[in-house]
Amino acid sequence: MNMEKIKSAALILAGGTGKRMGGDVPKQYLELCGHPLLYYAIDCFEKSSVTEIVLVVTPGDEEKVRKDIVDRYGFTKVSSVVAGGKERYNSSYNGIRAISDADIVLIHDAARALVTVDVIEHTIKDAYEYGACVAAVPSKDTIKLSDADGFVESTIDRSRAWIIQTPQSFRMPLIKAAYEQAEKEASDKGLSGFFTDDAMVAERYSGQKVKITMGSYENIKVTTPDDLQVAEEILINRKN
Ligand code: C5P
Repeated sequence: MNMEKIKSAALILAGGTGKRMGGDVPKQYLELCGHPLLYYAIDCFEKSSVTEIVLVVTPGDEEKVRKDIVDRYGFTKVSSVVAGGKERYNSSYNGIRAISDADIVLIHDAARALVTVDVIEHTIKDAYEYGACVAAVPSKDTIKLSDADGFVESTIDRSRAWIIQTPQSFRMPLIKAAYEQAEKEASDKGLSGFFTDDAMVAERYSGQKVKITMGSYENIKVTTPDDLQVAEEILINRKN
């Protein structure tokens, strides 16, 4: 397959409040080895084969992100900076609607600053072949589900348990139709907070099986202050 011919757009979601990080500065702007966290995911997509990048940011931050990040670092693939919504699901849908022309859309959490070009390219390839895919790594830990009272309800077969990451990548018509379908149900039933990733929307509304694409154990979601420290160590290691 000639990857150069595939038009792929990346949505980078940075519209959250990052409450679990604490502090006044939203986590997407916190400094990580001298650059704002959001810089890293954009930089990686710039270096990949994606043709267009759409940034989804906290409403009101559009200008600031354009000036302080896109212009400052001279990113050339960013076609638009749009406002996010109340839940992650709303931010994804806003981003999908801002894409002008793409065969494949990759949806990525800005908080996963340590994504690699390799993982990005593998998800483009799998999305093209299977319609929908998620980056993931096999769970090293045993995963259990709890009941409402905090007791173990069941144990998942570890040999089939995966820790799900982003990018989550899709053929554009598939994910657009799935979100349009979800939109009819989600607002009525208050489901928007229920969809914690994009694959859930595809699983429920596209009738398409979602392929699991091997991610990377370094592709962590920077969520709490501890994660910032781990991310810095990984970045320093990569430079050495
Ligand atoms: O909250 P969660 O950990 O699922 O956030 C994952 C990513 O989605 C983060 O990069 C965050 O900035 C983004 N997000 C968003 N809009 C929201 C909530 C989260 O773009 N309303």
